[in-house]
Amino acid sequence: MSSSSLSYVHPTPNSPWGTYLSQVDRVVPYLGDLARWVDTLKRPKRALIVDVPIEMDDGTIAHFEGYRVQHNLSRGPGKGGVRFHPDVTLEEVMALSAWMTVKTAAVNLPYGGAKGGIRVDPKKLSMKELEKVTRRYTSEIGIIIGPHSDIPAPDVNTNAQIMAWMMDTYSMNVGGTATGVVTGKPLHLGGSLGRVEATGRGVFVTGREAARRLGMDLKGARVAVQGFGNVGSVAAELFAEAGAKIVAVQDHTGTVVNDKGLDMPKLVEQARKEGGIVGFKGGDTVANEAFWDVACDILIPAALEGQITAERAKQTKAKLVLEGANGPTVPEADDILGDRGVLVVPDVICNAGGVTVSYFEWVQDFSSFFWGEDEINERLDRIMMNAFSSIWDKADQHKISLRTATYAVACGRILMARQERGLYP
Ligand code: GLU
Repeated sequence: MSSSSLSYVHPTPNSPWGTYLSQVDRVVPYLGDLARWVDTLKRPKRALIVDVPIEMDDGTIAHFEGYRVQHNLSRGPGKGGVRFHPDVTLEEVMALSAWMTVKTAAVNLPYGGAKGGIRVDPKKLSMKELEKVTRRYTSEIGIIIGPHSDIPAPDVNTNAQIMAWMMDTYSMNVGGTATGVVTGKPLHLGGSLGRVEATGRGVFVTGREAARRLGMDLKGARVAVQGFGNVGSVAAELFAEAGAKIVAVQDHTGTVVNDKGLDMPKLVEQARKEGGIVGFKGGDTVANEAFWDVACDILIPAALEGQITAERAKQTKAKLVLEGANGPTVPEADDILGDRGVLVVPDVICNAGGVTVSYFEWVQDFSSFFWGEDEINERLDRIMMNAFSSIWDKADQHKISLRTATYAVACGRILMARQERGLYP
């Protein structure tokens, strides 16, 4: 039985939290007796809203709203990134934290799921203001984060420098250097080799495994990538190295296409120098909506949630969708893609490479013993391939989508832990 007056139990359809809840509903028939615990997945364990006031460079005082949500801690400490974006809301962070719970369980890392965010446009802040926002936010959420309780990491618009400030602020407050409190740190501050590339690498590895099972040759395969940040650009480069043609890329500045394939090293260089891909000489800049019409075999949404709508699911020519972003496909679009025979590798396995190397970083910090890059990449590839293969078998066994199969594997693990721990008191 469940009862609640909380508004988040009835979210807006197609909102990230609404999308997540319907993904959970779809897995219930495959949970067996563990289904009696399923309501635990439908609400966050703990959500903290914090005020982040800072003095701006011009002397005015600005207030930003920040969040840290711990969705589930049944299998271990909370784990998940921190996002700085003008559209961040509590409901979005709840969904992102829940997807972390499913993701860490899908690849069997000893973590729960958490996420944080600040509603702020970091592009409008000076470096000093960005540092102040980060430090004050860290101090405010300091009452619930920690190396053994909840470990933040980078997400949209946050990076190694921001993690260094977070680690330092937390450490100052506890009176000792605690490198294990965040992951995605700079290398000389307890960071891990391979962490920056890990999410994109995981997208490539799961994509390669899916393509092989579909009988699709990566050589000459046409790839369209939405989002050219840490995830999209690395995945695109790896697909290009494997012989695929990157025929379309979209980022926050615009859309660039080239039927013969865009030159990846040059596009990466332009994005780094100019802050975006628009106007790239090695291709044509087209209207953003044209991105969804491009003739391609593989579509990689690697930007924000809710990008693959029902309309775009009908439009796309892709046969394989690799969810580099969290929550890019709304449930209705998921059904349309399934009916059209398009295979979707869901976010909760596809982009799990990032948190997997975050786990390696955390383990290395505790043991103060650091691994080489080859060792990290080999372990990452093995974990991603094994997880993908058991999910594929589950999907095959029940004739269900890869998303529902991933939820079946992951939610089975989470709810088993819940049951074995029992209810307190
Ligand atoms: N923000 C990333 C994600 O969505 C990584 C989280 C982490 O490394 O903890 O998976």
